[in-house]
Amino acid sequence: MKCTLKNLLDPHPDQIGETVTDFLRYLGGPSIIFLTGNDISRTRAFVTLLHGNEPSGVKALFRWLKSGRRPQVNIVCIIASVEAAMFGPAFSHRVIDPMRDLNRCFNGPFDDEQGELARDIVSTLQRYQPESVIDMHNTSGSGPSFAVATFSDQKHEALTTLFTQRLIITHLKLGALMEISEHLCPTVTIECGGRLDNEADEIGWDGLSNYFSSENVFAVRSADWGLELLHNPVRLELNENCSLCYSDQASSGYNLTLPPTVEHLNFGVTRKNTLLGWVNNGVVPELSNIFSCRNSVDESVLNELIYIVGNEILVRQDLKLFMITCDPLIAKMDCLLYAVKSDGSELSL
Ligand SMILES: [Zn+2]
Repeated sequence: MKCTLKNLLDPHPDQIGETVTDFLRYLGGPSIIFLTGNDISRTRAFVTLLHGNEPSGVKALFRWLKSGRRPQVNIVCIIASVEAAMFGPAFSHRVIDPMRDLNRCFNGPFDDEQGELARDIVSTLQRYQPESVIDMHNTSGSGPSFAVATFSDQKHEALTTLFTQRLIITHLKLGALMEISEHLCPTVTIECGGRLDNEADEIGWDGLSNYFSSENVFAVRSADWGLELLHNPVRLELNENCSLCYSDQASSGYNLTLPPTVEHLNFGVTRKNTLLGWVNNGVVPELSNIFSCRNSVDESVLNELIYIVGNEILVRQDLKLFMITCDPLIAKMDCLLYAVKSDGSELSL
C-alpha cells in the first residue's frame, strides 16, 4: 500500500524557503523529515500539525531547520495536515470540511483519506522505533501551556517538563495519536497555548530545542518537582440540537450564549458561582437538554459542574477549566471546555 507521507532527509536550510508558509509549500502534503543526530543509535519522534490551524509546532521545526543545527539523537518529524494548514489564509482550518478530525482517527476506521493518513503515521512510528513521541498542538482559545498523557510516571513527567509545568492525565479514548503511540513508547501531547498567542510559539520553540538537543529526555530535572498534575478532566459537550453564539449578553434565538471573554477562565481557579453564560430567555431548560458531561466511571456530573438560575449558567464549585474555545464550530464538533476540581482531582457524584 502506498504511504500517504512524503519522505525527506536532512533538508538544507536554504532548501526550505524563507517563511513557514514557504516551508509548507515546499512540503506540499503530509511529510516525514528525518534528521540525523550526533548519536545515530537512538531516535525520537516529533509529530505536529495534526490540526491545520495550530502552527506553533511547525514554526518551531522550521526555526530549527533554518538554524542548521544537528540534533543530539535522530529525530523523525511528522508534519501531518499540511493541506489544511495551507487552505485559505494559512493556519485557519483545523481540518478541510467535510474530512474527519485527524486526531480522532487513530483508532480507525482507516478506509478514508484521514484514516489512511492516521494509519501511515502510526506505521511510520513503528518503523523508526522512537524512544519517545511528542505531539505538538495549540489550543483554539487563548490560554497557558500544558501537556496531556494517558498516564503519569517519571518518564512522562520528565518529557513534560522539557515544555511546560502542567500535566493532564486523561482516561478519555477519543482516537488521539497518544492513545495508540503510547503502546510503542512514552508519548506526551503538548498544548503550547493559544494558536494566535506569540508566547505559545516561544514555548514551542524552547521545548523543541530542549527535546532535540537533550542527551537524556527522561532525566529527572529539578523542574519536575513543581509539576502540576490534573487528573481525568471531564468534557462539557453540547447536545446535537443545541445552538450556540458568543455575545456580551443573552441572545434570543440561540439555546446558549457565551461571553467572548469566557476563554479568560482557561486555567487558574474559576470560583464557585462564576457566570459562564446564558440560556435562552424563553423557557429555562434542564441542563441535560443542552449539555452532557460524564466522568471516567460514566456518571453524569453536569450538576457538579454548573447550575442555572434565571437564565444564567453558573459554576457549581471551585474548578480548574481549560481548553475553553471561542470558536463555535470547535465547541460543537469537539467540546466547550474541560474541567477538574480545584485540587486537580476528577469530578464525581
Ligand atoms: Zn490540536
